[in-house]
Amino acid sequence: ETTIIDGNAVAADVRADVAEHVETLEDAGVTPGLATVLMSDDPASETYVSMKQRDCEEVGIEGIHVEIDADAPAAELYDTIDDLNAREDVHGILVQLPVPDHVDKRSVLRRIAPEKDVDGFHPENVGRLVAGDARFKPCTPHGVQKLLAAYDVETEGADAVVVGRSDIVGKPMANLLIQKGPTGNATTTVCHSRTEDLAGKLADADIVIAAVGIPEFIDGSMLKEGATVIDVGINRVEADTEKGYALVGDVEYESAKSVAGAITPVPGGVGPMTRAMLLYNTVKAAGLQHDVAIDLE
Ligand code: NAD
Repeated sequence: ETTIIDGNAVAADVRADVAEHVETLEDAGVTPGLATVLMSDDPASETYVSMKQRDCEEVGIEGIHVEIDADAPAAELYDTIDDLNAREDVHGILVQLPVPDHVDKRSVLRRIAPEKDVDGFHPENVGRLVAGDARFKPCTPHGVQKLLAAYDVETEGADAVVVGRSDIVGKPMANLLIQKGPTGNATTTVCHSRTEDLAGKLADADIVIAAVGIPEFIDGSMLKEGATVIDVGINRVEADTEKGYALVGDVEYESAKSVAGAITPVPGGVGPMTRAMLLYNTVKAAGLQHDVAIDLE
């Protein structure tokens, strides 16, 4: 019987834990605040940001939202970040990616104060993660780590294959899996678009993390019997639904499920975890900035 890993349930636990710590902060006179910045007309980005704002409200985090015209000069975004860096009521800053082409993404990520960088993309925070001294773990790989822990998936000594090497998922995911300690100690292979024999790598994998962005790219025939399959992919495919599309992962769910020992569905797997870990990082940031002890699980 294949275990279906329930991201909604684990995310609800994380949110409950976060909400408790919001109260601890409130008792110390601190209301945690998260600023989201949107410089894009992309409907998907708009949806993501509004979901993040709604999530904040639910756990008692003050949401602050700034919208910048997608055609505005880059300086407008930089000025906004400078203002938010200086605000005492803002503990976390998230600039929704992608930013327009005329804005240099790296400059944006470097401009956010590392203490407020709840996405964990500032080079200082990337460096700390790699050094095994993470401040803010990027939300998606952190969420995956939480899922693995919640379902007692043994990572120590396991052969893990991460498919994808992006800065926001694949690379930090691999870094977390190779760290010493619980939820680490995995023997980790990173596959990407230039990998020669993906099927050969997957055939031996105890844990597969798929972050490719290609609908149903990995199927059951490529997996080892009993493997744990974490599907990060969220892909829109045309479908005969009200919206005209459906969401599918990077893994072909039905065939993978018949081989895997445990698997995440899409939606309802990694997605809700990503959202929950942003709240987690925001509360952690507020605690650090105000010297309030926050003991998040
Ligand atoms: P990306 O496009 O930045 O990276 C995709 C990676 O896949 C690249 O590193 C590339 O080398 C690799 N790749 C491409 N073709 C390949 C091939 N043929 N074989 C092996 N590897 C190949 O994407 P991303 O930002 O890492 O996102 C990946 C997917 O995860 C997307 O579907 C995205 O929507 C989704 N995503 C979901 C969440 C979530 O919360 N669940 C968060 C972030 C991203």
